Amino acid sequence: MTNQTASTPPAELILLKLGEVVLKGLNRRGFEERLIGNAKRRLKKHGTFKVTSRQSIVYVEPLSDSCDMDGAYDTLCKLFGVVGVSRAKACEKTPEAIFAAAADYLRDDLLAASTFKVESKRSDKAFPMNSIQLSQYVGGELDEAFPHLKPDMHDPDVTVHCEVRDFAAYVHANPAPGAGGLPVGMGGRAVSLLSGGIDSPVASWMMAKRGVALEMVHFFSYPYTSPEAKDKVLQLAQLLTPWCGRLTVHVVPFTEIQEELRRSCPEPLFTLLMRRFMMRISERVAQRIGAHGLVTGESLGQVASQTMDAMAVTNAVVDLPVFRPVVGMDKEEIIRIARNIGTFETSILPYEDCCTVFTPRHPKTHPTREELEEAETKLDVEGLIRKAVDGIERVVMEP
Ligand code: ATP
Ligand code: MG
Repeated sequence: MTNQTASTPPAELILLKLGEVVLKGLNRRGFEERLIGNAKRRLKKHGTFKVTSRQSIVYVEPLSDSCDMDGAYDTLCKLFGVVGVSRAKACEKTPEAIFAAAADYLRDDLLAASTFKVESKRSDKAFPMNSIQLSQYVGGELDEAFPHLKPDMHDPDVTVHCEVRDFAAYVHANPAPGAGGLPVGMGGRAVSLLSGGIDSPVASWMMAKRGVALEMVHFFSYPYTSPEAKDKVLQLAQLLTPWCGRLTVHVVPFTEIQEELRRSCPEPLFTLLMRRFMMRISERVAQRIGAHGLVTGESLGQVASQTMDAMAVTNAVVDLPVFRPVVGMDKEEIIRIARNIGTFETSILPYEDCCTVFTPRHPKTHPTREELEEAETKLDVEGLIRKAVDGIERVVMEP
């Protein structure tokens, strides 16, 4: 590997600071590789980049002038597993070049700040100064070049980072926070039940944040729910792809099941019976794609079908674990996340969901397993499930 030398560093690169990944001991290499793979895939649309890791930092270097650095930066701010994102300037490995790069590249940050400090790291032990000496040198020069700046070692407005590494030196300032969490794919695979509401996109995002690769299931009740309602769900999935990566949405035809339930079951149990079908069908999808869990946007006590007893009877028909990451959150807290991740405005578009089509006037809030099983004896449960699964339409959303 001699084709990269100190004389040809890229003008600018992006540094990613890894989060919990670094705590994972022996798994660390696997985590880093997963994160690098995810980064490479997401970066494709912005140009050709080289992505490598050294000492818990991932270096993202553009390989041509046509790379879209702004786009790459935005993309990497949504990459789970990363806790800090900085744009950095590469320069020659001399103290003078490092100061000049800091003064020029970080000019706007330095002009906007009133206090600063310099932190240096030196992994190239052949560099003539140690890291304390380099910080003192660059700090002294910056102090002179920007007379309004005062040094502050404890709580500076801006921290200038100087790093002397194998092939080049880098300067960068305060990193953006990064998306946190774990690289998608490290936490296994699950099927997420995606409605058009506020809660399920947030629940999906929270599981993806913990490294879970997702596929979506949406139950569609045409003509009771409109094509616009389905488009809205696909749009929500699309909005999640910058975090989750490519998402397959399994659109399940649900009309026949709902009509059958309305025809032959007691009205107070309608929603719970419907939710049991949703769980069973989602589990079939999970089996097909090798997923090991289900995800829903249920929150305890939010509606009649989300009491503890109601959740117990919907859980009872599946063997896979059901993850409900928003179960203990208030609506306000869920909405705050929905706004932050950009799904809220789409979620509140006024299209009906299949759950709102035949809502019982007096839904049962403390159901027993026996009464649901009794109601289901009147149905061809397996036949209805098989027909729905056979009618699934798959739509793939790309980031
Ligand atoms: P959301 O805001 O996510 O729609 P909600 O508070 O409206 O949730 P329900 O309508 O009772 O609650 O749905 C509970 C959960 O069931 C949803 O969070 C979602 O995971 C799943 N779900 C409901 N309707 C559908 C649907 N049409 N397709 C797929 N999943 C659904
Ligand atoms: Mg809903």
